[in-house]
Amino acid sequence: LIGIYGHELKMPVYVVGGFVRDLLLNIPNYDIDIVVEGNGIEFAKYVGKQLDAIVVPYEKFYTATLVFKDGFKIDIATARTEYYEKPGELPQVDVSTIKKDLYRRDFTINAMAIKLNPNEFGVLYDFFNCQRDLQEGIIRILHNLSFIEDPTRMIRAVRFETRYNFRIEEHTLDILKKNLEGKYLERVSGSRIRQEIEKILEEREPMKAIRRLAELGILKHIFPKTYYTPTMDEKLERVFKFLPSVKERYQNISDFYAISTVLLEFYDKETLDDMRNRYGYPKKFIESLKFTENMMMPLKSMIETRLNFSDIYKVIGKGNPYIFIHLSAYLEEDDQEYLITYIDAILNTKLEKVSGKYVIERFSLKSGPVINEILERLYAMKLDNPK
Ligand code: ATP
Repeated sequence: LIGIYGHELKMPVYVVGGFVRDLLLNIPNYDIDIVVEGNGIEFAKYVGKQLDAIVVPYEKFYTATLVFKDGFKIDIATARTEYYEKPGELPQVDVSTIKKDLYRRDFTINAMAIKLNPNEFGVLYDFFNCQRDLQEGIIRILHNLSFIEDPTRMIRAVRFETRYNFRIEEHTLDILKKNLEGKYLERVSGSRIRQEIEKILEEREPMKAIRRLAELGILKHIFPKTYYTPTMDEKLERVFKFLPSVKERYQNISDFYAISTVLLEFYDKETLDDMRNRYGYPKKFIESLKFTENMMMPLKSMIETRLNFSDIYKVIGKGNPYIFIHLSAYLEEDDQEYLITYIDAILNTKLEKVSGKYVIERFSLKSGPVINEILERLYAMKLDNPK
């Protein structure tokens, strides 16, 4: 239908990017990006009317999103050329042809289009030997300035490499390494870097990608004081094992914060503040990171010796999910299980009938800090013995 509407408006329309890549790889992909040679917003409005979809236009980028009644979305863009005024910043945009539009993309595997207009329906537009790279499993940039224009592509390269078990091509790798040393990644905003890392964490094998980021030296340009050692690798492995149990018990757990508990270990205060400004960690997160870091060895042995919940409670209280995640980095599987039972006790134990008021009346006490202490002790006792 999109092709027919293109025909009606006399605009060439194409499906592009990840959809084409995955179609050729025979992998399902419902992320549909359409590019129009013509006015993309006008086209989107026409389609929206025909198919009863809401059109959300972004005038500045000549793009629009179509939102259908069932929530399905299609992105429509005007074929465009982008030029970069400064490395790492978002690009300026000019209207253009499909070839130039494809040339501005990150890698050859993502730079193909399929025409949708009826007279050429299904024709593959491949200007840069993209299909060959896709068949050979190669991640290749389209031109030498690619990583300078958008340094987050370095992280994307690793994501696609890991996802498809592809290889970054030699020349691309050379340029990547040179641009890393040129500190281009450091010029990108923290939020864009974080977004790319978050996408990596949504992949099937995040550990594989993190290892590769470390191996290529990219990680060092994201977390400047992180030394990726075999010990750190083990800790991250343990965190990934533990994470699903935490997510079952707490809402909105961020994988990015979770791995940060390990990646930011032993940072000095100043660099930690830099990281906080750059990646937007909440103050509380950084504080609890410092707390756990100092307590790690005692906490580890408390868990390993299966200390009573009430005694653990004296040290970490109700804690928070990131404290538990950080601790899990130090624990073997059965110790992690014990930690989960502690978390469950914390989440399920409440002093239902006993309140401050009750304690004051029952024991004829005056209100003051002692009441709180009594309540805390009663709570701790109940952790060990719920009945
Ligand atoms: P995924 O399957 O992870 O969604 P995708 O290739 O669809 O991968 P998107 O981020 O949705 O990734 O981007 C859609 C398309 O836009 C890509 O296929 C690529 O052609 C282009 N693109 C995305 N990000 C960049 C970038 N940073 N630089 C250049 N082109 C990009």
